[in-house]
Amino acid sequence: MYEGRKVYAIVLAAGSGRRMHSKQKKQFMEILGKPLYTWSAEQFDSHPAVDGIIITTAEEDIPYMETLTEFEKNASKDIYSTCDSTKTYPLHKLSAIIPGGKERYNSVYNGLNEIRKIEQLSETGTAPDANASAGTDPIIMIHDCARPMINHAIIDDALHYAAKYHAAVIGMPVKDTIKIIDEEHFVKSTPERSSVWLMETPQSFDFSLIFSAYSKLIQKESEGRLMIPVTDDAMVVEAFTGARVKVVAGTYENIKITTPEDIKIAETYLSE
Ligand code: C5P
Repeated sequence: MYEGRKVYAIVLAAGSGRRMHSKQKKQFMEILGKPLYTWSAEQFDSHPAVDGIIITTAEEDIPYMETLTEFEKNASKDIYSTCDSTKTYPLHKLSAIIPGGKERYNSVYNGLNEIRKIEQLSETGTAPDANASAGTDPIIMIHDCARPMINHAIIDDALHYAAKYHAAVIGMPVKDTIKIIDEEHFVKSTPERSSVWLMETPQSFDFSLIFSAYSKLIQKESEGRLMIPVTDDAMVVEAFTGARVKVVAGTYENIKITTPEDIKIAETYLSE
């Protein structure tokens, strides 16, 4: 709980990891002897304010994830024969392992719906009690499991600013000059560097706000009217609500493991 409100983390682990060019999916690749997703999931699990964790993973990986997390005691042991790891990584606050969707935003929406069911919130994401106050609106932290360098200090900041501003995302100022380019790779413009930040996760919101934004996004998708790729959660809130999103400085170490060279960087940081 944080200031009397429930806190859930949605740990996204349903990607295909195409850019990693590896046989094994990125979320299960071992970093210093542990599957990648465990590094961030364990940070949420051990944080005192976090009440529940939802992991999204590909449908076919659910039995493996259940085995790794010891979520279901009857998870198939045969799974070991097809996977590298015979070790398990129990998560005490794991609420559900659910199938992800085609795109990251589909996985997030599935995670939000699962929390809605667990907390018995209405279709609009609010508590059935009409007099529901912010006290009954859970705080949701959405995190890419591909960012293993998250720590309790980042989670503390994310919660503090989400509770204060309803929407808060972790990021860092860019160090390089950024160019906006056209289709033929000619420079169109140069944004002023001091106002350009790289977005990281966790991205944290009031449940009612993020659920309402995502419901509108999914409605638009079903009508075939999504015009630009959705690459983070803040942009869903920006596009579909009037809420302002607070940007909070995290760390430069909180990189997303995307390509093989990122693994070496992560191993260096995580071994410290
Ligand atoms: O592909 P990328 O690394 O940008 O994905 C960011 C995060 O979102 C990863 O942790 C990935 O597992 C997750 N993801 C997901 N469902 C998808 C695509 C990505 O949960 N359909």
